[in-house]
Amino acid sequence: MIGAVRDVFKQTTIPYRTDVDTRTLSTFRIGGVCPLVIEPQCENELIEAIRICRLVGVRFAVIGRGSNLLFADGELKHVLIRAAALDALRPTQVGISAQAGCSLARLAHFAADRELSGLAFAAGIPGTLGGALVMNAGAYGKEIGTLVQSVTVLDICQARVTVLSREELCFSYRSSLLQARDLTVLSAELALPVRASRAAILAEMAELAKRRRESQPLQQPSAGSVFRRPASGEPMGKVIEELGLKGLRCGNAAVSDKHAGFIVNLGGATAADVLTLIEHIRKNVERERGFLPIPEIRYVP
Ligand SMILES: Cc1cc2nc3c(=O)[nH]c(=O)nc-3n(C[C@H](O)[C@H](O)[C@H](O)COP(=O)(O)OP(=O)(O)OC[C@H]3O[C@@H](n4cnc5c(N)ncnc54)[C@H](O)[C@@H]3O)c2cc1C
Repeated sequence: MIGAVRDVFKQTTIPYRTDVDTRTLSTFRIGGVCPLVIEPQCENELIEAIRICRLVGVRFAVIGRGSNLLFADGELKHVLIRAAALDALRPTQVGISAQAGCSLARLAHFAADRELSGLAFAAGIPGTLGGALVMNAGAYGKEIGTLVQSVTVLDICQARVTVLSREELCFSYRSSLLQARDLTVLSAELALPVRASRAAILAEMAELAKRRRESQPLQQPSAGSVFRRPASGEPMGKVIEELGLKGLRCGNAAVSDKHAGFIVNLGGATAADVLTLIEHIRKNVERERGFLPIPEIRYVP
């Protein structure tokens, strides 16, 4: 099936790579080989790539910087469509308009340069705007969803481009309608009505970056927090640490010594190592604390 879709892409001008080591596509540096990675350079190419995958009937996933992903070992069953090259951004009357592949760091600095406040929290999240909107990424009490004015999406089933408002997207903790429906993020309009000096925004970013460096294992490959916060609101890192699981190792993956909410790749970890650790943690938490943690990181089989 993937061979068939590869033949179709040969007839187009859309850039693609074959037999790609997925360790190069995620911050976890884990995974096997993806037979086909499509790298559209504009929205039309992204839409066309999705149309072709649907026409041939191959499974596909649109990805950003892979900072919330765990790719399977062995040969991937998905075609990956990497949206990272769609990274245009421009100021608008109310804030910023940006394409899905724009990195959050670039977006945050673009806002700071224009003295628009509200995105400092996002500067240290190593993803794209598209991935952040899907996950409703957040940090230090702020979430990207609160800044959304509208998101332009490709509705995959209807094969049409449509604009959805913040209300329609139902953002909540690490969740949005973009997860539940077959929607691909093309771009978004962010409303940033509060102004602050560039110096003040950069100072806030520096302070948050310092807090991250002090509390998170940024020197080791990971996909950020492994689990969503439970209903009690208690940080999962604290729960895992209290159960004595900090430092627990499976193969070359380990619960971080620095932040028990992270699993880190010690070098050469496999997806199986990470999945085994996740299951071990879930069972322990369920037995000792009475709830089953829900993974935040997304597994791509
Ligand atoms: C060191 C570290 C720190 C982190 N800190 C935080 C944090 O503070 N807060 C936080 O919320 N997260 C954090 N994360 C997790 C991650 O960075 C965020 O979830 C980020 O928003 C994911 O963006 P991405 O572009 O990497 O998405 P990916 O990981 O590539 O994809 C994530 C999901 O979004 C989907 N997706 C991506 N782009 C699109 C698109 N254009 N259209 C439709 N679907 C799409 C993918 O299919 C996948 O389901 C951290 C990760 C790391 C490694």
